[in-house]
Amino acid sequence: MSPSACEIVKALEGLDKCELCTARKEARQPVYPVGSLKKGAPMVIGRNPGKQEDRDGVPFVGRAGQFLNQYLERIGFKREEVYITNTVKCHTKNDRPPDPIEIKTCSTRWLHKEGAALKPLIIFILGQDSYKGLFGYRISPWIEQTGQIIKYPNGSYVVVLPHPSGALRNKIWMKRYEMVEPELREIVKEVKKRLEG
Ligand code: URA
Repeated sequence: MSPSACEIVKALEGLDKCELCTARKEARQPVYPVGSLKKGAPMVIGRNPGKQEDRDGVPFVGRAGQFLNQYLERIGFKREEVYITNTVKCHTKNDRPPDPIEIKTCSTRWLHKEGAALKPLIIFILGQDSYKGLFGYRISPWIEQTGQIIKYPNGSYVVVLPHPSGALRNKIWMKRYEMVEPELREIVKEVKKRLEG
């Protein structure tokens, strides 16, 4: 196992037994991330697993996942080249939005440690709850904040996007994906060179 893979495995140790928040009682199982464990690999952060993900134990396997896979391919990534995780690792009944305490508890305990181990060169934030999980606060109006690509001095990127389920339901959100697609294709080429070099 590569050093970064070891660090991520360590960061997730005990997730299967986690009962830190109320969401766990509504789920069959905490859903582990999937994908690349290579240092710097792009990180995709969703909200929390849906019904299908809860059953299969794999993130983004339902309709939103199909959309995500296709989008990643369009900008130049295969699903297996990115690390896919969730802000809250457990499904919530009837897909209710996780509450602020669940978001804070779960992201502090797991997500932030995953990020520290992986050190992703790009982070795709899918939806407002994922933004909150990563940064600890909400931004508004969300519609105006989506489609942002933030470049940090160390050369890494944060891409703020609507949740794929929103994009599937509403053209306004879909447009945010389309709007940044050309720029993302260029960024992906640059990041891939850095990952290979
Ligand atoms: N939506 C999410 O935010 N995460 C998943 O894993 C599936 C759907």
